[in-house]
Amino acid sequence: MRKNIVAGNWKMNLKRDEGLDLINDVINLLPSDNKVEVVFAPSFIHLYKVNKMCLNLDKVNTASQNVSKEERGAFTGEISAEIIRSANVKYTIIGHSERREYFKETNEDLKQKVDVSLENNLEVIFCCGESLDQREEEVHFNWIKIQISESLFHLSSDDFRKIIIAYEPIWAIGTGVTASSDQAEEIHKFIREIIAQKYGDEIANNTSILYGGSCNPTNARDIFSKDNIDGGLIGGASLNAESFVEIIKSF
Ligand code: PEP
Repeated sequence: MRKNIVAGNWKMNLKRDEGLDLINDVINLLPSDNKVEVVFAPSFIHLYKVNKMCLNLDKVNTASQNVSKEERGAFTGEISAEIIRSANVKYTIIGHSERREYFKETNEDLKQKVDVSLENNLEVIFCCGESLDQREEEVHFNWIKIQISESLFHLSSDDFRKIIIAYEPIWAIGTGVTASSDQAEEIHKFIREIIAQKYGDEIANNTSILYGGSCNPTNARDIFSKDNIDGGLIGGASLNAESFVEIIKSF
Protein backbone atom coordinates (compact mmCIF):
# COMPACT_ATOMS: atom_id res chain seq x y z
CA MET A 1 0.00 0.00 0.00
CA ARG A 2 1.30 3.48 -0.84
CA LYS A 3 2.07 5.22 2.40
CA ASN A 4 3.94 8.28 3.56
CA ILE A 5 7.21 7.38 5.22
CA VAL A 6 10.00 9.40 6.78
CA ALA A 7 13.06 7.24 7.47
CA GLY A 8 16.15 8.36 9.34
CA ASN A 9 19.42 6.85 8.16
CA TRP A 10 21.90 7.37 10.99
CA LYS A 11 24.77 5.95 8.92
CA MET A 12 27.86 5.37 11.13
CA ASN A 13 26.85 7.96 13.73
CA LEU A 14 25.59 8.05 17.34
CA LYS A 15 27.00 6.07 20.23
CA ARG A 16 24.54 3.97 22.24
CA ASP A 17 23.44 6.67 24.72
CA GLU A 18 23.20 9.31 22.00
CA GLY A 19 21.06 7.03 19.85
CA LEU A 20 18.71 6.03 22.66
CA ASP A 21 18.31 9.65 23.76
CA LEU A 22 17.45 10.60 20.20
CA ILE A 23 14.77 7.91 20.00
CA ASN A 24 13.21 9.06 23.29
CA ASP A 25 13.26 12.68 22.15
CA VAL A 26 11.67 11.90 18.78
CA ILE A 27 8.97 9.78 20.43
CA ASN A 28 8.20 12.60 22.87
CA LEU A 29 8.02 15.20 20.12
CA LEU A 30 5.90 13.18 17.67
CA PRO A 31 2.44 14.70 17.30
CA SER A 32 -0.35 12.55 18.74
CA ASP A 33 -2.14 12.63 15.36
CA ASN A 34 0.96 11.60 13.40
CA LYS A 35 -0.06 9.95 10.11
CA VAL A 36 3.39 9.27 8.70
CA GLU A 37 5.25 6.00 9.15
CA VAL A 38 8.50 6.81 10.95
CA VAL A 39 11.49 4.51 10.44
CA PHE A 40 14.78 4.55 12.33
CA ALA A 41 17.83 2.99 10.68
CA PRO A 42 20.52 2.92 13.40
CA SER A 43 23.78 0.97 13.43
CA PHE A 44 23.35 -2.78 13.63
CA ILE A 45 24.50 -2.85 17.25
CA HIS A 46 21.68 -0.52 18.33
CA LEU A 47 19.00 -2.09 16.19
CA TYR A 48 17.61 -4.61 18.66
CA LYS A 49 17.30 -2.07 21.49
CA VAL A 50 15.85 0.64 19.25
CA ASN A 51 13.35 -1.82 17.88
CA LYS A 52 12.28 -2.80 21.40
CA MET A 53 11.74 0.88 22.25
CA CYS A 54 9.49 1.28 19.20
CA LEU A 55 7.63 -2.02 19.42
CA ASN A 56 4.41 -0.74 20.98
CA LEU A 57 4.30 2.53 19.09
CA ASP A 58 1.92 2.99 16.21
CA LYS A 59 3.58 3.72 12.84
CA VAL A 60 7.14 3.62 14.19
CA ASN A 61 9.45 0.96 12.78
CA THR A 62 13.10 0.15 12.25
CA ALA A 63 15.37 -0.68 9.34
CA SER A 64 18.85 -2.06 9.01
CA GLN A 65 21.18 0.03 6.86
CA ASN A 66 22.49 -3.02 5.05
CA VAL A 67 22.06 -6.78 4.81
CA SER A 68 24.26 -9.62 3.62
CA LYS A 69 23.52 -11.11 0.21
CA GLU A 70 24.33 -14.53 1.72
CA GLU A 71 21.71 -16.63 3.46
CA ARG A 72 23.90 -17.78 6.39
CA GLY A 73 27.23 -19.41 7.17
CA ALA A 74 30.94 -18.59 7.31
CA PHE A 75 30.87 -14.90 6.36
CA THR A 76 32.62 -13.22 9.29
CA GLY A 77 31.33 -9.74 10.01
CA GLU A 78 28.23 -10.04 7.84
CA ILE A 79 24.65 -9.87 9.14
CA SER A 80 21.98 -11.89 7.41
CA ALA A 81 18.36 -11.10 6.65
CA GLU A 82 17.18 -13.92 8.92
CA ILE A 83 19.22 -12.54 11.85
CA ILE A 84 17.85 -9.02 11.28
CA ARG A 85 14.32 -10.32 10.97
CA SER A 86 14.72 -12.39 14.15
CA ALA A 87 15.03 -9.05 16.01
CA ASN A 88 11.59 -8.09 14.58
CA VAL A 89 13.06 -5.42 12.33
CA LYS A 90 10.64 -4.56 9.50
CA TYR A 91 12.85 -3.07 6.77
CA THR A 92 16.31 -3.12 5.32
CA ILE A 93 17.86 -0.37 3.23
CA ILE A 94 19.51 -1.81 0.12
CA GLY A 95 21.65 -0.05 -2.48
CA HIS A 96 22.50 3.19 -0.69
CA SER A 97 24.98 5.08 -2.88
CA GLU A 98 27.60 4.87 -0.13
CA ARG A 99 27.35 1.06 -0.26
CA ARG A 100 27.50 1.12 -4.05
CA GLU A 101 30.47 3.48 -4.13
CA TYR A 102 32.66 2.55 -1.14
CA PHE A 103 31.84 -1.16 -0.97
CA LYS A 104 31.52 -1.70 -4.71
CA GLU A 105 28.05 -3.25 -4.50
CA THR A 106 26.77 -4.03 -7.98
CA ASN A 107 23.21 -4.26 -9.27
CA GLU A 108 23.61 -8.06 -9.21
CA ASP A 109 24.76 -8.00 -5.55
CA LEU A 110 21.75 -5.84 -4.71
CA LYS A 111 19.42 -8.21 -6.54
CA GLN A 112 20.67 -11.04 -4.30
CA LYS A 113 20.21 -8.87 -1.21
CA VAL A 114 16.66 -8.05 -2.28
CA ASP A 115 15.87 -11.74 -2.80
CA VAL A 116 17.29 -12.97 0.49
CA SER A 117 15.53 -10.12 2.34
CA LEU A 118 12.11 -10.85 0.89
CA GLU A 119 12.56 -14.59 1.49
CA ASN A 120 13.04 -13.70 5.16
CA ASN A 121 10.08 -11.30 5.35
CA LEU A 122 12.26 -8.21 5.51
CA GLU A 123 10.75 -5.42 3.43
CA VAL A 124 13.11 -3.39 1.28
CA ILE A 125 13.87 0.30 0.95
CA PHE A 126 15.76 0.27 -2.35
CA CYS A 127 17.95 3.28 -3.16
CA CYS A 128 18.80 4.55 -6.60
CA GLY A 129 20.20 7.79 -7.96
CA GLU A 130 22.66 9.38 -10.32
CA SER A 131 25.96 11.23 -9.93
CA LEU A 132 26.39 14.85 -10.94
CA ASP A 133 28.35 13.79 -14.06
CA GLN A 134 25.50 11.51 -15.13
CA ARG A 135 22.97 14.30 -14.68
CA GLU A 136 25.12 16.72 -16.66
CA GLU A 137 25.55 14.13 -19.42
CA GLU A 138 21.77 13.60 -19.33
CA VAL A 139 22.06 9.84 -18.85
CA HIS A 140 20.38 9.92 -15.43
CA PHE A 141 16.97 8.58 -16.54
CA ASN A 142 18.55 5.60 -18.20
CA TRP A 143 20.91 5.00 -15.27
CA ILE A 144 18.06 4.90 -12.77
CA LYS A 145 16.06 2.60 -15.04
CA ILE A 146 19.02 0.21 -15.18
CA GLN A 147 19.52 0.31 -11.39
CA ILE A 148 15.87 -0.51 -10.77
CA SER A 149 15.36 -3.04 -13.53
CA GLU A 150 18.55 -5.03 -12.91
CA SER A 151 17.96 -5.37 -9.16
CA LEU A 152 14.16 -5.45 -8.90
CA PHE A 153 12.35 -6.30 -12.12
CA HIS A 154 12.85 -10.06 -11.77
CA LEU A 155 10.44 -9.94 -8.80
CA SER A 156 6.91 -11.25 -8.95
CA SER A 157 4.13 -8.67 -8.57
CA ASP A 158 3.44 -9.88 -5.04
CA ASP A 159 7.07 -9.44 -4.05
CA PHE A 160 7.34 -6.05 -5.72
CA ARG A 161 4.57 -4.81 -3.40
CA LYS A 162 7.09 -5.14 -0.54
CA ILE A 163 9.50 -2.68 -2.17
CA ILE A 164 9.84 1.00 -1.29
CA ILE A 165 12.00 3.05 -3.63
CA ALA A 166 14.22 5.89 -2.40
CA TYR A 167 15.45 8.26 -5.10
CA GLU A 168 18.67 9.80 -3.83
CA PRO A 169 20.69 11.88 -6.28
CA ILE A 170 24.31 11.35 -5.17
CA TRP A 171 25.12 15.02 -5.72
CA ALA A 172 22.52 15.95 -3.09
CA ILE A 173 23.52 13.48 -0.36
CA GLY A 174 25.25 15.14 2.57
CA THR A 175 26.18 18.13 0.42
CA GLY A 176 23.56 20.64 1.50
CA VAL A 177 22.52 20.87 -2.17
CA THR A 178 18.96 19.61 -2.54
CA ALA A 179 17.30 18.63 -5.76
CA SER A 180 14.55 21.17 -6.39
CA SER A 181 11.09 19.78 -5.74
CA ASP A 182 10.48 19.88 -9.52
CA GLN A 183 13.70 17.98 -10.27
CA ALA A 184 12.79 15.35 -7.69
CA GLU A 185 9.19 15.09 -8.89
CA GLU A 186 10.37 14.60 -12.49
CA ILE A 187 12.40 11.54 -11.49
CA HIS A 188 9.76 10.16 -9.11
CA LYS A 189 7.18 10.38 -11.89
CA PHE A 190 9.58 8.60 -14.23
CA ILE A 191 10.20 5.84 -11.67
CA ARG A 192 6.45 5.37 -11.22
CA GLU A 193 6.05 5.15 -15.00
CA ILE A 194 8.67 2.43 -15.42
CA ILE A 195 7.10 0.48 -12.55
CA ALA A 196 3.71 0.84 -14.30
CA GLN A 197 5.18 -0.42 -17.59
CA LYS A 198 6.50 -3.51 -15.83
CA TYR A 199 3.85 -4.24 -13.18
CA GLY A 200 0.83 -2.18 -14.18
CA ASP A 201 -0.81 0.97 -12.82
CA GLU A 202 -2.24 -0.55 -9.66
CA ILE A 203 1.14 -1.63 -8.31
CA ALA A 204 2.86 1.55 -9.52
CA ASN A 205 0.29 3.74 -7.80
CA ASN A 206 0.70 1.77 -4.59
CA THR A 207 4.50 1.98 -4.48
CA SER A 208 5.93 4.49 -2.01
CA ILE A 209 8.77 6.51 -3.55
CA LEU A 210 10.87 8.52 -1.09
CA TYR A 211 13.25 11.38 -1.79
CA GLY A 212 16.67 11.58 -0.14
CA GLY A 213 19.40 14.20 -0.38
CA SER A 214 19.88 17.12 2.04
CA CYS A 215 16.21 17.10 2.98
CA ASN A 216 15.68 19.36 6.00
CA PRO A 217 12.88 21.17 7.88
CA THR A 218 13.13 24.13 5.50
CA ASN A 219 12.69 22.27 2.21
CA ALA A 220 10.68 19.20 3.27
CA ARG A 221 7.21 20.74 2.91
CA ASP A 222 7.84 21.80 -0.67
CA ILE A 223 9.37 18.42 -1.62
CA PHE A 224 6.59 16.39 0.06
CA SER A 225 3.90 18.48 -1.64
CA LYS A 226 4.63 16.82 -4.99
CA ASP A 227 2.25 14.18 -6.31
CA ASN A 228 4.81 11.41 -6.69
CA ILE A 229 6.88 12.04 -3.56
CA ASP A 230 5.69 9.90 -0.66
CA GLY A 231 8.26 10.81 1.96
CA GLY A 232 11.94 11.03 2.64
CA LEU A 233 15.06 9.10 3.48
CA ILE A 234 16.87 11.51 5.76
CA GLY A 235 20.56 11.42 6.66
CA GLY A 236 22.08 14.38 8.51
CA ALA A 237 18.79 15.94 9.63
CA SER A 238 17.68 12.66 11.24
CA LEU A 239 20.45 12.95 13.84
CA ASN A 240 18.65 15.78 15.59
CA ALA A 241 15.25 15.09 17.16
CA GLU A 242 13.78 18.56 16.49
CA SER A 243 14.75 18.65 12.83
CA PHE A 244 13.70 15.04 12.20
CA VAL A 245 10.28 15.64 13.78
CA GLU A 246 9.87 18.92 11.87
CA ILE A 247 10.43 16.94 8.65
CA ILE A 248 7.85 14.35 9.77
CA LYS A 249 5.39 17.17 10.49
CA SER A 250 5.92 18.61 7.00
CA PHE A 251 3.23 16.33 5.57
C1 PEP B 1 21.18 9.62 2.89
O1 PEP B 1 22.32 9.32 3.13
O2 PEP B 1 20.35 8.74 2.67
C2 PEP B 1 20.84 11.05 2.87
C3 PEP B 1 19.77 11.41 2.24
O3 PEP B 1 21.70 11.91 3.52
P1 PEP B 1 21.50 13.49 3.75
O4 PEP B 1 20.08 13.70 4.17
O5 PEP B 1 22.48 13.83 4.82
O6 PEP B 1 21.80 14.16 2.44
